[in-house]
Amino acid sequence: MSRVAVVTGGHSGIGRATARLLDKQGVRVAVLDRDGTPPVDVSDPAGVEAAVAGVRQTLGSVNIVVNAAGIAAGGLPTDDHYIETWQNTLAVNLTGAMLVVRACLPDLLANGSGRIVNVASTEAFGAGRFSSPYTVAKHGLAGFTKALAVDYGRYGLTANCVCPGATLTGMTEAIPEADRMVFARRRIPAGRYGRPEEIAHVIVALTAKDASFINGAVIPVDGGMTAQTR
Ligand code: NAD
Repeated sequence: MSRVAVVTGGHSGIGRATARLLDKQGVRVAVLDRDGTPPVDVSDPAGVEAAVAGVRQTLGSVNIVVNAAGIAAGGLPTDDHYIETWQNTLAVNLTGAMLVVRACLPDLLANGSGRIVNVASTEAFGAGRFSSPYTVAKHGLAGFTKALAVDYGRYGLTANCVCPGATLTGMTEAIPEADRMVFARRRIPAGRYGRPEEIAHVIVALTAKDASFINGAVIPVDGGMTAQTR
């Protein structure tokens, strides 16, 4: 019997690459995305509950959750709209992941080998300038992942966190190519941005049934960026 995965943010970028790779491996994939059909906003508790109930009914019990939905937002605490930015960013990037996990947990625990992969960021290890709401959300997501690993590890469930560095997706497409190249040359040992498929490869590896002893890990996938000190 093929497994069932819920992939948030699966309409674009890293989530889409993950959904495609899981599908290739014979996993039945449900995408929850605000740009999907129907649209699902992961920050809406009732919407998430209804979407997961729909997945259960159409595809069956959920074995895998990948939380890739996210928004980039920045600013300084003194900015006019900072409170709104803070609330929106935490609602999607942190609370959204919790809501999806919470809705799927009964299934993940019942099947004895549930897999959760949360997509954080290298911002889970440190802070870039002017992006405190995003940084806080990603640190929180890494913490939530570890707490899940600790609370549910005894039930065969694993929860791990993948932390992409700069990756070519919808989130970074507005950055001018010249700026991307300067950043990549200075900061990324690989000398380039990553491709969404390179992040998806690691996410999907963590969803394997045999990936049963890696739990609570927070893994950079960043072309060596966080390893480089100068
Ligand atoms: P993306 O913009 O290509 O994809 C994000 C997806 O999330 C989109 O399909 C969007 O519709 C969906 N989404 C946003 N808000 C949502 C909501 N409220 N409800 C449901 N869906 C929602 O960006 P991406 O780079 O593929 O981002 C995937 C994850 O990777 C994000 O969590 C992001 O923070 C993280 N990340 C990306 C980079 C990068 O450089 N691209 C780096 C580090 C971490």
